[in-house]
Amino acid sequence: MDRIAALDVFPLSIPRDTPYLGPLEPGVTVSPHGYFVRPGNQTVYSVDDHSVLVRVTTEQGKVGWGESFGVVAPKVAKTIMEELMTPHLIGRDPHDGLAIVEDIYNAMRVRGFFGGFYVDALAGIDIALWDLRGKLAGLPICKLLGARRHSRLPVYVSGLPRATLPERAALAKEWIDKGFGAVKFAAAVADEGEPAEMAALRQALGPGPQILADFHWRYTDQEAIKLITQLEPYDLAVAEAPVQPEDMEGQARVVAAVKTPVAIGEELRTVYEYRPRFTQRCMSIIQPEMAHMGITSFWHVCQMAQAFHCRVMPHATIGAGIAQAASLQVSAALANFAMHEYQHSIFDRNLQFVQGNMRCEAGYFYLPDGPGLGVEPAPALFDFVMQD
Ligand code: MG
Repeated sequence: MDRIAALDVFPLSIPRDTPYLGPLEPGVTVSPHGYFVRPGNQTVYSVDDHSVLVRVTTEQGKVGWGESFGVVAPKVAKTIMEELMTPHLIGRDPHDGLAIVEDIYNAMRVRGFFGGFYVDALAGIDIALWDLRGKLAGLPICKLLGARRHSRLPVYVSGLPRATLPERAALAKEWIDKGFGAVKFAAAVADEGEPAEMAALRQALGPGPQILADFHWRYTDQEAIKLITQLEPYDLAVAEAPVQPEDMEGQARVVAAVKTPVAIGEELRTVYEYRPRFTQRCMSIIQPEMAHMGITSFWHVCQMAQAFHCRVMPHATIGAGIAQAASLQVSAALANFAMHEYQHSIFDRNLQFVQGNMRCEAGYFYLPDGPGLGVEPAPALFDFVMQD
């Protein structure tokens, strides 16, 4: 039997011309390690794109690739994996991947590590184990899960990284003219306010294209209800993250009070975090993030969503394209899939860093061919590995 022989971890830092979500506002400062916080969303980002690439290798030289969430401090995941997770992997049968992942989660639950950097690190290992099993079986991951329902996946264009509202509206129109059916704007950079942003976008796009709004957890429940109600005359398609992540009662109140479907979940990782939000009807759409969850947890949460009659609209974080491929593989297997986030400023750039025919064209992601994830990191990606 072929057993797991090695785990290798590659923290990445890929330079970008314009910071994520667009040019920095006046007065925003960048820390010595390259981090900044915009006043609109209060969340730390890096000026460069960080991520964590993971490789699992067997004694016979078979390789599986994964990617962990590493938007900030990606070297933390490397330390956690090397010191705490590698011993659970070495010598194990790759076909025991679910047991390996459960063992790693279980090893730290009593220490209170139910999420955060620990579970993010585990996500990359989980993806790599699924990729490895797919390659050993000669099957794409969607087939290992038991379904290839979709070979192309509808997307929404996420973010309009321009400094002014007229420029953002023009950019939205460009995407619709290229055959895309949906765009999402970010409240964090809607400098004239969300109602003006929504009105300008609807004016530019006309009736038909879907417009989604990401509220970046900014509001109280009543502020959110008032604001979403103001946007509904312009046919808001989805209201994302209206209140703070911890405010389950507020999430449920917003869902009950507005006509627009409410989406949450990009910051969550496990069935344990999702379960109370399902039972309290905190959303009608979930936004699982593959690089936080890994394939196993992502799949379990999506099955739970089906039991609660929620749709799945996967999140697409900053990364190198490997977790993106994993997200497409699971999405292809889902009966309750709605559409996938398309981070154009990241995905298009990443095509030079992955080998395989993953692509996004005229409103759809196309599932890459081949076993496992269907993609592999290209040699060019290794130019961006952070040194110790
Ligand atoms: Mg979001």
